[in-house]
Amino acid sequence: MSDAAAGRLLDCRDIGVRFGGVVALSHVDFSLSPGEVHGLVGCNGAGKSTLMKVLAGVVPDYTGEILLDNQRVRLSSPREALAHGIAMVYQELSGIGQLSVAENLMLGRQPVTKWGRIDWGTMVRQATESLAELDIRIDVRRRLADYPLVIRQMVEIARGLHSGARVLILDEPTSALSLPEAKRLFELIGRLRNRGVAVVFISHFLEDVLEICDRVTILKDGRKLATQAAKELDRATIIRQMVGDKVDSVSEECVEATLPPASVSQPRLEIRDFVRTGFFEKITLDVKPGECLGLYGFVGAGHQELVQAIGGAISVESGNILLDGKLLSPGNVARSVQKGIVLVAADRARTLARRAPISHNMTLAHLRRSVGPWITRKHENDLCRPILEQVGCRPPDPALRAGSLSGGNQQKIVLAKWLLGPIRVLLLEEPTRGMDVRAKTEIMELVAEQKRQGVAVILASTEPELVLAYADRIATMARGRIARIFSGERVTKRDLIESI
Ligand code: ADP
Ligand code: MG
Repeated sequence: MSDAAAGRLLDCRDIGVRFGGVVALSHVDFSLSPGEVHGLVGCNGAGKSTLMKVLAGVVPDYTGEILLDNQRVRLSSPREALAHGIAMVYQELSGIGQLSVAENLMLGRQPVTKWGRIDWGTMVRQATESLAELDIRIDVRRRLADYPLVIRQMVEIARGLHSGARVLILDEPTSALSLPEAKRLFELIGRLRNRGVAVVFISHFLEDVLEICDRVTILKDGRKLATQAAKELDRATIIRQMVGDKVDSVSEECVEATLPPASVSQPRLEIRDFVRTGFFEKITLDVKPGECLGLYGFVGAGHQELVQAIGGAISVESGNILLDGKLLSPGNVARSVQKGIVLVAADRARTLARRAPISHNMTLAHLRRSVGPWITRKHENDLCRPILEQVGCRPPDPALRAGSLSGGNQQKIVLAKWLLGPIRVLLLEEPTRGMDVRAKTEIMELVAEQKRQGVAVILASTEPELVLAYADRIATMARGRIARIFSGERVTKRDLIESI
């Protein structure tokens, strides 16, 4: 055993993970020392979350071996991982908002009185103390949901420590935090380091990674490219490795684009000073008829919520929307749809009635508007079938249950539904997520066709390739703000990533 390995807390060797036909990780080595903050970076889909889920016991079907304190372990459930001292804080936090902070912290380990009741006094005192140790001073009797994200994250971290974690994994913890909040979290990470806890920090914010980490591991396409001391690295070097210099895979087919000169038409849709605290701040943007505006950012940058808000699916605190120069009140889906502003949300499960026939899914949104008040099953099917054929839904049978189709075909139904009636603005949130290349291309061809007919399109995505391939203008977003707008120039994937 080498000296370096002797002080290791954790050593993963030759880790491999497959999801069906997809190789998510292959031959990955990864190690942690006590008191180390280890940055894990790579583009979307590089395998960062999967590698950490292996450590957290969430992905039990891995190959390779994991050593903790030089003992071979098999991590086949989160419970087992936690018993070995490994805890993970997910982006979608797992705390229970309706319960108090104290209850969340002590969940499963609440102190009880000798009569078997929960001992509130002791619980509140213990919870307060264990947070104070981390310099988190809050009223633990209040509901977790009452606190901002950064506090909820810190409570989750404290909960991990409270259960004896020696390895804490933070998967993109800062992407939805404001700068001062992120700084607070970094201070906490510093305190964990002093206590000898090993922290894995996954982030797209490379400055942060370089600032707070001791070592950095770079993943690309499921493989480990390098593990290096942070002080030997700089941002440009990391980005070059993350993105790669060669165009060598399907995902990098489109790593650059030449954007057309800005359109001089009057805007079809304008949003002014859109604010939803914690998600986006003072956003002003417009999109022209026949134009596709790309909104690019990492998960949590706010662009996804922004399109949802424009479509009225979530509310805003302030701001205006103008459609063809006329003021609309935001936050009302039905009104938006009536005006021809439609949203294809990333969460297909939520927008599709899976057990209903395809035809119902298509006509539901605008029975009165385009189908008329009187409708028979035959009439409905006759209306839907040609559109299903047009969108390339396989099979184009309106009577089938929506849920029986593949993801790509379900997305075609969602789009087909809007093609039934005339639309003016098409809002897309991750429209091709989880689709194969063929389905992706077909979907985006439909979008391009709408654009040719003068529809204004806003395409929000975390995939730079998608935005580069289809957008005419690209706004990049980070931490709820617009970082840069690219227009009428040659732009590469690296330019996009570097701008945020
Ligand atoms: P990252 O966190 O670096 O963005 P992930 O670990 O989430 O990357 O994903 C790595 C690869 O594994 C991607 O190609 C992704 O599509 C795939 N993948 C991740 N989770 C699953 C899953 N549950 N089922 C199928 N494929 C998955
Ligand atoms: Mg991830």
